Parts: sequence; C-alpha cells; structure tokens
Amino acid sequence: MSAQPVTVVDHPLVQHKLTLMRKADTATAKFRHLLKEIAHLLCYEVLRDLSLETVEIETPLETMMAPRLEGKKLCFVSILRAGNGLLDGMLELVPSARVGHIGLYRDPKTLQPVEYYLKLPEHRDERLFIVVDPMLATGNSAVAAIERLRKAGATNIKFVCLLAAPEGIETFQKALPDVPVFTAAIDRELNDHGYIMPGLGDAGDRMYGTK
Ligand code: URA
Repeated sequence: MSAQPVTVVDHPLVQHKLTLMRKADTATAKFRHLLKEIAHLLCYEVLRDLSLETVEIETPLETMMAPRLEGKKLCFVSILRAGNGLLDGMLELVPSARVGHIGLYRDPKTLQPVEYYLKLPEHRDERLFIVVDPMLATGNSAVAAIERLRKAGATNIKFVCLLAAPEGIETFQKALPDVPVFTAAIDRELNDHGYIMPGLGDAGDRMYGTK
C-alpha cells in the first residue's frame, strides 16, 4: 500500500507565525499564542473535507436551505503534554468536538513508548479522530498513540503536527500508511538527541516555560 500523502500547510500566515515560534527569544506567552493561532489554520486544513448536510433556516428575509456540519462525531486527541497546545487552538475553532488524551513515556531501558494515561470518548468506530502532537520527531510516540487508538476501536484517524523530521515521517508512513499527516513544515533532520533540526527546541518546555 502506498502511504497517504503528507500535506504541508504552506500558507504564508502559517509560515510567518512558525518563524516567530522558532526564534529562541520568543517568550513563553507569545509562543503559546502563536501555537494556538497556527492550530486554527492547521485545523481548517485537516477538516477541509468534513461532511455537510442541508437544513432549512429562516434568514431575516426568507427561508433557505443552508449547509451545516453533519453530526457531532469529531474527536481531537492530544498526545500529552505538548499536544495540548494544538488542542487548545483546535477547540476554539470546533468547540463542540469531543476530546481524548493519551500519555506516553519512553522506557529508558527498552526506549519503547509506554502508556501511562488514556481517556477517549465512546462510539469510536463512528468518529473522525484528529491526533495532535506538535513535533513528529522519531515518530515512535505518534505511531504508538495511533496504534493504541486503533486497538480501542478508532478506524478513521488523521494526524496533525507543527514540525516533522524526515525520519519521523518515514517511520510513521511505514507503520501507518493509511493515516494522512498534516504539518506546517518538514525540517532537515533529527539530531543525536532526537531533536528536530533546525526545529524550535522542546515544544513542551517552550509552551509551558519549564526550562
Ligand atoms: N520533541 C520536541 O519537543 N522537540 C523536538 O525537536 C523533538 C521532539
């Protein structure tokens, strides 16, 4: 099976805001605000093909048939903790969406992701799941999170990040060729510590001021 494409959202506003986020001297509050703004724009793109239905409404002048979103079967899933930054922005755009959280840490001995938290809404086979994590670095956490979601019954899944490394994309597409990826940029490489280069540093630390 050939892998689903990676969509790079290269809108000028996204690229401009991402440049501001990358700068080492961008303060925590500004970083968080920019991430939320970019999340709006990524969300707009990932939900481009949401289904609509037509309903009758009254404008002040006459009756018309107007489109509205079909059903309420959307779920955003944040990979903790950095995923919460993208999640916050997406929820501003789609406040009625359900939310799931998944927490993973890397076992220092096996280097494999280990789940420490999982909370998902029900009716999983009927929902579109948008899994969010700002950095697709090695790809291991994203793959583990999505495989776990699948085990829990999710079938329709898309993944959204802010930055991706080519190594992470390769791992992701090998494991999950049917899951589309949306990102604001694909950077050059991973360094020896698993950071995306040139990147923006540790997204969680920059978002929450923990370093
Ligand atoms: N996680 C981050 O926060 N930053 C990276 O560069 C890689 C993984």
